[in-house]
Amino acid sequence: MEKLKFSVVIPAYNERENLPELFEKIAAVMEQIGEGYEIILIDDGSTDGTDKLVKDFFERYPLKYIRLRRNSGKSAALQAGFDHVEGEIVITLDADLQDDPAEIPRLLEHLEKGYDLVSCWKKRRRDPVSKTLPSRIFNWFVSKMTGVNLHDMNCGFKVYRREVVERIKLYGELHRFIPVLAAWKGFRVSEVPVVHHPRKYGKSKFGMERFLRGFFDFLTVFFITRYRLRPLHLFGSLGLLSSFAGFLILLYLTILWFHGVRPIGNRPLFFLGILLLIVGIQFFTTGFIADMIVSGWFYPQREFYPLEAIYESSILKSEEVPDKESPGEKADK
Ligand code: UDP
Ligand code: MG
Repeated sequence: MEKLKFSVVIPAYNERENLPELFEKIAAVMEQIGEGYEIILIDDGSTDGTDKLVKDFFERYPLKYIRLRRNSGKSAALQAGFDHVEGEIVITLDADLQDDPAEIPRLLEHLEKGYDLVSCWKKRRRDPVSKTLPSRIFNWFVSKMTGVNLHDMNCGFKVYRREVVERIKLYGELHRFIPVLAAWKGFRVSEVPVVHHPRKYGKSKFGMERFLRGFFDFLTVFFITRYRLRPLHLFGSLGLLSSFAGFLILLYLTILWFHGVRPIGNRPLFFLGILLLIVGIQFFTTGFIADMIVSGWFYPQREFYPLEAIYESSILKSEEVPDKESPGEKADK
């Protein structure tokens, strides 16, 4: 079988009105590029008759149609698509025509510069201010906290080398953090400003609740990318902080007591001290238990030993190995 170059992955939930124009535009661009491609449409439990419309598409486009039995969310839809990609390069875009397929060649060009994931940046975003402003703050915050410096994490329009989508697993609503997850796996991530169009048909599937959820997802991502293999480092630090503060407070009260300042048992500070001490110990035990779960993961029966999770690697062919000496090697000689 001939190797396929491109997989275009499109999650769609009730986007029937947008699909004909979207497919036309994608096909036009892909024909222009002139290499083998497939379009993977993931119908995320649409109830607007998307399936009936798609029937005609099979004859006209190189289509893989994946239907999720019920609406499962954008992350699940993308993951379902990723599970079926055959192309060397994966292109994702939203189904609502807000992303312009005409930008694909530019994104690909950027990918060729040596990146594994190129994300789009909706520099002039055509959405209501109620969405763009919180989104700005969100992106700024996530960039600062994760060190992955992008203006726009959650743009649906991205191009990837297939290895990236094979290595990240999306669940819940983690699609908002794909660049962070990819960077954590050691992939090179970049972004390119693109044009963005207002939604023509249908309505946005995400409301204001996205920011609260986004914050929780941020905590999840922050935790798993940093502490998944060493939870005690997080819980232990919190525990130390809290119990040490509690200890100091109680020490202070004890000294007072010996100096004859009594009673101390009815002072608010006394309760605060006890609270901090107990909470601190709880942080510690949470950390220990989490550490046990992690080590249990790594040392159950040998055959389940998930080596992959400890490091990220890929096997290089000899021509892929750079022949320049690394500074470290030189020093050894
Ligand atoms: N989407 C999906 N499942 C969902 C919600 C959204 O597949 O449960 C798709 C939707 O059809 C669209 C993309 O995800 O192709 C982005 O959704 P939307 O345009 O509503 O998000 P916004 O542009 O408002 O961020
Ligand atoms: Mg949209």
